[in-house]
Amino acid sequence: MKLFECGSLVPGCPWHTRADEEAEVVRRAVEHMRTTHGETIIRENMIENIKARIVTTEKVTA
Ligand SMILES: [Zn+2]
Repeated sequence: MKLFECGSLVPGCPWHTRADEEAEVVRRAVEHMRTTHGETIIRENMIENIKARIVTTEKVTA
């Protein structure tokens, strides 16, 4: 599993997402940036910032 915690990019934001594929995590994170943080223009470095903060976690079965 891949995990992205928005708080690592936007201090204080409790939002996080998990998915099997990094691409899916990036997609959801970008969507979150648009809807929650008003980032209407997603720059290339934003994608890089998100990718740099994605961590691999153990699969959660619960
Ligand atoms: Zn956020």
